[in-house]
Amino acid sequence: MRKAIILQENSQNGEVLAYCPYCNEELEVSDLEMFFACPFCGGALEDNDDLQKFILSPSVRTWVSKSMKSISERNS
Ligand SMILES: [Zn+2]
Repeated sequence: MRKAIILQENSQNGEVLAYCPYCNEELEVSDLEMFFACPFCGGALEDNDDLQKFILSPSVRTWVSKSMKSISERNS
């Protein structure tokens, strides 16, 4: 049985943090996009609205677009 990710939204800056429901380690989007699993304990995470919200959260999107840009710049 998969457990749902734990989300905590910072009400001051809107940043969304995610925690593993098994070991309470903080999770990064890059850990979740591919595997939907915790890299620390290997716990399988439920692919629910909260997880999608975390992956698509604004602070994360900025980070992703930045890293995508640097990748394409490196390759050109
Ligand atoms: Zn874990």
